[in-house]
Amino acid sequence: MKGESREIRLRGAPICAGIAIGDPFVYTCPEEVIPELLIPLEEIEREVLRYRQAIEKSRSEINYLRGKLENEGAIEAAAILDAHLEILRDPMLTEAIERKIRSTQKNSEYVFQTCLNDYAVRFQEVTDPYFRERLNDLNDIARRILGKLRSTVRFSLLEAPHQSIVFARELVPSDTAEADAGRIGALVTQMGGDTSHTAIVAKAKGIPYVARVDFRGVGNFTGAPVIVDGRIGEVILNPSERTLSKYRVLQQEHEQHLRRFAEQGHLRPETVDGYQVHLTANIEMYQEVELIQRYGGSGIGLLRSEYLCLSGGVMPSEEEQYRIYRRIVESMRGKPVVIRTFDVGGDKFRELPIVGEEENPFLGCRAIRLMLKEHEAFKTQLKAILRASFHGDVRLLFPMVSGLPELLEAKSYLAEAEAELVERKEKFRKNIPIGIMIEVPSAAITCDILARECDFMSIGTNDLVQYCLAVDRDNKAMSYLYTPAHPAVLRLIKMIVSEGNRNGIPVSLCGEVAADPRFTALLLGLGVHELSVIARYLPIVKSAIRNTNIVQATHLAERVLGMSTAMDVLDALIAHHQETVQGQMIPNSGLLP
Ligand code: PEP
Ligand code: MG
Repeated sequence: MKGESREIRLRGAPICAGIAIGDPFVYTCPEEVIPELLIPLEEIEREVLRYRQAIEKSRSEINYLRGKLENEGAIEAAAILDAHLEILRDPMLTEAIERKIRSTQKNSEYVFQTCLNDYAVRFQEVTDPYFRERLNDLNDIARRILGKLRSTVRFSLLEAPHQSIVFARELVPSDTAEADAGRIGALVTQMGGDTSHTAIVAKAKGIPYVARVDFRGVGNFTGAPVIVDGRIGEVILNPSERTLSKYRVLQQEHEQHLRRFAEQGHLRPETVDGYQVHLTANIEMYQEVELIQRYGGSGIGLLRSEYLCLSGGVMPSEEEQYRIYRRIVESMRGKPVVIRTFDVGGDKFRELPIVGEEENPFLGCRAIRLMLKEHEAFKTQLKAILRASFHGDVRLLFPMVSGLPELLEAKSYLAEAEAELVERKEKFRKNIPIGIMIEVPSAAITCDILARECDFMSIGTNDLVQYCLAVDRDNKAMSYLYTPAHPAVLRLIKMIVSEGNRNGIPVSLCGEVAADPRFTALLLGLGVHELSVIARYLPIVKSAIRNTNIVQATHLAERVLGMSTAMDVLDALIAHHQETVQGQMIPNSGLLP
């Protein structure tokens, strides 16, 4: 071992739980010097061809990775690579560069790099998080293309030694896509938001990941093992023998727990005192249906229809949508399927022609607002969902409703869609249950009014937290403020549940917090009867439910509702959780610091 000999503990943000012990592997992307060469005129077409081939090779690599991710069940991650494929089709990367190679007579890597630098300068001035995320995507693709143009082989995480702990300033999604859970022990980055694409990929693959760690000087520890504890966001450099043996035991226990969770698929999601919870899944792709069956989910609590239908960048016809919904509904064999109407705009699917340019898209024309404006497309979707309802237990969910007029207008389009289907003599179920997402504070505060006009409510904490606390859910710098444990958010959840009860309608919760087992007792104690989580998290949450005592959970909720800060709430949740599981290590989904 060279350099430092003392044990050093670094803290960061826990993104994906798990414990890894391995050798550090510093993943750097050295700034390579790109030569500027003058290409003879007679060879310029060959140079253009060389560039085209680099694009083609990059495309087939991304296609391959995409398929790999899909097979591994990392569906959301695969969708990110769809965005990369989309960028590769952009004329800015194809025709414009080819023209410039011809006009400047310079080598393609030089032209490509110069154009990228220009874009980067322009992007730097943009503060919109969506566009900044696109810059990351662009840089990711650029590295791949440059790797093809240069004779040197692009370095990839596939080449990292077995069980290495990868330290990187920043990882782009395709780096993580290449990371194999069996090969890479853990990821540690200096940058990275909890909801970044890379975080989604790591979670989907189950690779322990700690972000926002200041690890300068880690090179001094080469040769010594490193411990990563993704449950609490800790990285231990140069651990003592005592720490190492403690963590070896903890790691084994953790793996045993994961196996036990997976084996619990057939058990009922009920508390120790027999209280039944409805545990359903959020899905974006058809392949996730299999996971729901494997893990014994009670249904689909949130079908994000935009991912299923709009990934190709065009609006499918009624018939195409009907086939997509029907396939899922039939596969669920009578279990409930809650289909949410398109939730686009904001940071999602902005490339669609119906989504306009806006100064502040998160506060603009997104979700139900957009579909009410685009009412023909809305009715097309409603007709497809209604027809699919004939094949199972379909329920309809409207996203981001902010007040009664929107709900009434949406219902009037539903009535029109029904009338058109009657006229066409199509089969569908009358009076399918209608639900609304509660994601905007105005809807939460007036949910007594809304509850009279719908059949169920689903709390979308991902957005509710951002709108309630005025914190962009993707803003890394503000991430310390983004927490569902804030007393304001908890009071809103309590209020929504009470109004649901008073009006006799069920309330579910489908934001990411539903997948964090340390929140399970609190949510049940607040009266939430249905939790809808990423399919991969079903066993973990089921186990947390089965460890909960509903009477104690109710007391916990009462106590927590009297607290003044998110920090106090988090401390209480952690303490309660530790008592309940008696020192077991239950992975979290990265929501607690
Ligand atoms: C939410 O906002 O909590 C939610 C489930 O919707 P999405 O994450 O799709 O915005
Ligand atoms: Mg939402």
